[in-house]
Amino acid sequence: MPAGGEGELTLTVRVRVSPEPEGQQALLGLMRRYRDALNYSVRVIIANRALSLSRAHRLLYSTLRERYGLPSRVAQDCYREAIAIAKSWLRNPRRGDMPVVKSLRMWLTHELSYRFKGDHVELAGGHRLRVIGWDRRYDNFLNGEARLVFRDGEFTLYVSKRVPRPAKYAPKGVLAVDVNEGQIVVGNSHVEARIETPIERALHYRRLAERLEEKYSSTRYNAWLRRSGIRRRVRHLRRKAKNIIEDWAKKTSHTIISLAKQGQLAVAREDLTGLIESLRRLPKDHRTALLALGYRRLGLWIDWQAEKGGVPILVVDPADTSSTCPRCGVELVEAGHRRLRCPRCGLEADRDTIAVLNIERRALSKMGGTLASPTAPQVTDVTPNRWGNL
Ligand SMILES: [Zn+2]
Repeated sequence: MPAGGEGELTLTVRVRVSPEPEGQQALLGLMRRYRDALNYSVRVIIANRALSLSRAHRLLYSTLRERYGLPSRVAQDCYREAIAIAKSWLRNPRRGDMPVVKSLRMWLTHELSYRFKGDHVELAGGHRLRVIGWDRRYDNFLNGEARLVFRDGEFTLYVSKRVPRPAKYAPKGVLAVDVNEGQIVVGNSHVEARIETPIERALHYRRLAERLEEKYSSTRYNAWLRRSGIRRRVRHLRRKAKNIIEDWAKKTSHTIISLAKQGQLAVAREDLTGLIESLRRLPKDHRTALLALGYRRLGLWIDWQAEKGGVPILVVDPADTSSTCPRCGVELVEAGHRRLRCPRCGLEADRDTIAVLNIERRALSKMGGTLASPTAPQVTDVTPNRWGNL
């Protein structure tokens, strides 16, 4: 996700890897020792506020080597990761219990604790993994730090890459994005498209998980049953719901950014912070949780895809975007289901279309005459052409 210095972006390439069958147990053993060592290191670092590499090294290195049997380089990556975990926990003003890592994952440093050799990845300590598949587009960029993750029986290596930040074009207009519960409306004064959100579909899996959990938390079932297979199934269903949201956010942002690129437009989206905050204040239920997740992920993905594609992006104030007239700024009145009318100029439209036009207008005024074409689009067409449902 977004990171990196001024002139470059850091992106993560996912590499599917697999240890040789005879090496799998040894590698899992190392990853379990790493996890235990990591949790130990986090506690020591927090207790001693040892947030520098040299202090952490002095306090931890020999224990990580001797008690946890980590190879030298892996021990160093381990306390480095522990420092990062400790720092983010200490920074959080609402921190709860001390963080505990449960998943099997390992930080790795390029050329020191991992390297690519032909179609294999070699890890410090003599472990070898076969590369099964990866995205070749970034092959020519240098490998940075990596993370090896074991989940659902599969090993994945996430390798960070630094790539030059593409130059942004001078926009010829604005593509506005309006977000609401049922759909995303994308458009401007000339065109409009609507994209359904997957909230209902994701909610279905969340509810299945919920039901299963309720049923088996009853004391009629023994603890073993409650703990093992059922728990895994519940986790699977929850993850499925999250994945539906994530895939949709990624795909939708890709569609939006491609449309913007085609028309050489800047993307304007509302600042969603207030919306997400107000969802947080609602009574906690699955719908609001998934909605908040969806909004957050979509915002992040749009910004990230825009960076990667050199598409200018503007974030505008969301206040009153669906209640004031985009032509004259007065308050609109209801004119039927989700339809609004301006008492002054007579403009009448769907409230989402109104929002898109207002976002476009705010973005244009924010750009203040920096459009590449001499004439900015005028808000004249109140029933814009449709791209249809994407
Ligand atoms: Zn008006």
